Amino acid sequence: PRNDQEGENENDGNQQVSETVLRNNSYTFTRAVVRQRSVGTSLSRKLKTSPTDDSLFAVQDDEHFSVLSKGRDYEPVFVTHRYTEEEKETLSSYESCDYLPSHSHVYRHWIKRQMISNIETDRWIMMGLIGFAVGLLGFILHQIIERISVLKWSTTKEYLDEGKVSVGWMFCSAYSMAFAVFAAAVIVLWKPSAGGSGLPEVTAFLNGTHVNNIFNLKTLVAKFISCTAAIGCGMPIGPEGPMIHMGAIMGAGLSQGTSDLFNFKLPFFERFRNPEDRRNFISAGVAAGVAAAFGAPVGGLLFCMEEVSSFWSNTLSWQIFFCCIIATSTSDLFNSSFQEFKSIGSFGAFQTSRYILFNVYDAVDINILMFIPSAILGVLGGLLGSAFTILYLKMTRLRKRCLASISSPRLVQFIRLAEPALVMIVMSSFSIFLPMAFKCINYTCMPSDSNTVSEFCVNDTTNKYDSQLREKEETFHTCDTGTNYMNGTTLFSNSTYNELALLLFSSKDEAMKNLYLRNSHRMFNYGPLFVSLIIYFFMVIWAAGTSVAAGILVPMLVIGALYGRILGLVIVDMFGVHLDESYWSWMDPGAFALIGSASFFAGVARLAPAITSIMMELTNDLKVLLPVMTAVVVAKWVGDYFTHPFFHALLELQCIPFLNQQPNVRIDKKNVQLELFSAADIMAFPVVTVNLVEHVPTLAQKLLDNTHNGFPVLRELPDGNCVFHGLITRSELMVMLENKDIFKPGPFTPLDDRSLDIAPIGYDCMVRGPQEKEEIHEMFLEQFVDRDSPFWNHYVDMTPYFNISAMSISCNFSLHRAYTLISALGLRHLTVVDDSNQVQGMITRKDLMGFHMVDTLGSIMETRSY
Ligand code: ATP
Repeated sequence: PRNDQEGENENDGNQQVSETVLRNNSYTFTRAVVRQRSVGTSLSRKLKTSPTDDSLFAVQDDEHFSVLSKGRDYEPVFVTHRYTEEEKETLSSYESCDYLPSHSHVYRHWIKRQMISNIETDRWIMMGLIGFAVGLLGFILHQIIERISVLKWSTTKEYLDEGKVSVGWMFCSAYSMAFAVFAAAVIVLWKPSAGGSGLPEVTAFLNGTHVNNIFNLKTLVAKFISCTAAIGCGMPIGPEGPMIHMGAIMGAGLSQGTSDLFNFKLPFFERFRNPEDRRNFISAGVAAGVAAAFGAPVGGLLFCMEEVSSFWSNTLSWQIFFCCIIATSTSDLFNSSFQEFKSIGSFGAFQTSRYILFNVYDAVDINILMFIPSAILGVLGGLLGSAFTILYLKMTRLRKRCLASISSPRLVQFIRLAEPALVMIVMSSFSIFLPMAFKCINYTCMPSDSNTVSEFCVNDTTNKYDSQLREKEETFHTCDTGTNYMNGTTLFSNSTYNELALLLFSSKDEAMKNLYLRNSHRMFNYGPLFVSLIIYFFMVIWAAGTSVAAGILVPMLVIGALYGRILGLVIVDMFGVHLDESYWSWMDPGAFALIGSASFFAGVARLAPAITSIMMELTNDLKVLLPVMTAVVVAKWVGDYFTHPFFHALLELQCIPFLNQQPNVRIDKKNVQLELFSAADIMAFPVVTVNLVEHVPTLAQKLLDNTHNGFPVLRELPDGNCVFHGLITRSELMVMLENKDIFKPGPFTPLDDRSLDIAPIGYDCMVRGPQEKEEIHEMFLEQFVDRDSPFWNHYVDMTPYFNISAMSISCNFSLHRAYTLISALGLRHLTVVDDSNQVQGMITRKDLMGFHMVDTLGSIMETRSY
């Protein structure tokens, strides 16, 4: 019959397309798309062999087969990466994790036990605890970074002031290199899972993908050390991404009360040992990480909701809000006891200059005209943000390819250690030698009256450089870097400052504070701003991809502030000289620097409420709220036109599966309407199933033969047909096989619900994660498939352990809605059944990945008219 049907579909023409629906005993769906005549005529022969033709896939067993064309080369979205076969394999190697616990009898028993305690109160307490721990960690991180950084800049400055430029450069480079290599060594030689920002991995986990080792205690320690060393020594990276990851680890660790490293499992925390609570605490840790790093509790909450977490509820909002308050107040409280480096502050007195990261003095009133440059900044943010994302991806892929082409692992390690050191040599050279080209400027050129700014500075150009310093150019660093100004104590204690040194010869935080200064219109001129912009833009791209724990949030703010200030300066130059003061006071480059920061942040990350809130909390300047919002929205529109958000691009780069909330499948630059397709179009079949009472060796053999992690459980009806009854995961089956006392000689009928004894297995079933050591797994299973094994005639009853609320849909169910079901409910497996409830296929998150749908739906579209 197969050959007959294939014959019926043969057409003339170069390209032959046939579609066949076959029905046999238990499986109904087979689709064949054949694109070449030669392939069509040899179809049946090929089906019996392993297909070699690149345009044909065949899956065959005794009863059924499927043939799918890989289709032609579909063009997905502009600049979206086309996965290579190798990358597709990496994507498939990730396992998913369940969002909801399996609704089994074991779980119901567990729920009953939890009702004894007041679990809701416990959750609030745990949220507070996580907030406190993350806040404390943020404080320690901040203090250590500051100390490493201050020591570097102050010692270098001393050498430069003495005129020992080369000694200063050597000290600065050696000091930075030592820390940079140390930061990389922790990652390369000890804990690779702590590299990067960790944000993509945490986002993927909260979306439902299991990523190995990301929540280990060792990862936390490695991340902390690497991040403090790298940022302290002045790499152009920021601590916020790593803080998010560290917060997530704390959320996971504190709430579960277990440690493999120290081998303990505290009984109190049993109530939180289920996938849902664990994810919620991890989300809280993420939000607390942002809150503690930026001192932005609302920003932390919104960032977690918008970017990181895929599942959200009102209760969770409240609990995370509480966690963020605790995190921010803890870090502010401890920071309050350190007024300045080496001096003691007053514990408990929250001073604005300590808890607002970039405190803005003399905020300017906005004007309706300000929305025009804000929108322009938005456009620039979108364009530069997209360029940043694309260049970062290209650079990282290039680095990956180069490292992969080196055969010696030692050499690879050496390169990965040497790269951050090289970054630091370049950075140190820039920060010491470049300012020499931009000589010191007399502070009197920096007026506090915006009305007179342009005139004043223009007139003052001749006196711009301090004559004494001009004589001894190499001592330019003796001029005040302007930091005193920020503390509001003195308006430049010395008479001069160097523009470029203010931007490069200091920590990024100091540079930001200077860029945001109000009423300082000509504090920076075009040259230093452009030079710093180019340096930061490219150095951040380079440094963030090296093997250290690095984030890019603060560097993004610096880049945005630089071009924001440039635009501000252009506006001042064009209109700022002869205009009325109060009406035109909005023309302040410092205000545009802030809007520019927000626009670049939005152009890269595409988050609207989170960025707006973070910017307000960071700077204390509510007056520019509306222009900031305008710039953010415009940057998002423009950025979305060119490429997808940076953090999603990172997921793509690392080949980690991620399911967007809304499907976005584009073929030939057109959106594909998934409502026009059905579940059967995308499902995998035939499905490996298990019986309610399963023969132990058969079960072990199924686990050995397949890598699937979910198996529909079948119940036999009196008429002999087996119908869908629920679903059981591989880890649950493994726990059952490990507890051999639940095996019974059989066959026997399934247990009645009421007589269940779940004691032998306890709650292991619920909390067991994916199997990490494949070989141990196989050796363990092989003992059951041996004919001489004592369990050869034994059976196991799934009744207490399988998920009785597993979802199933019919073959005709809309693909769009199936997607929404899976992404909204965090489903891991969705079984497809026919009208008589017999299992027909399986859909998992991987079947819904964009590249997979483009391949499969693309070939279907060739055969149907849409
Ligand atoms: P997870 O990734 O959630 O751990 P899994 O390993 O069970 O799930 P995937 O790796 O996501 O499954 O799926 C790989 C392919 O196998 C998908 O096309 C999926 O539909 C299919 N598949 C999953 N489970 C089964 C099963 N029991 N029988 C047949 N095919 C399955």
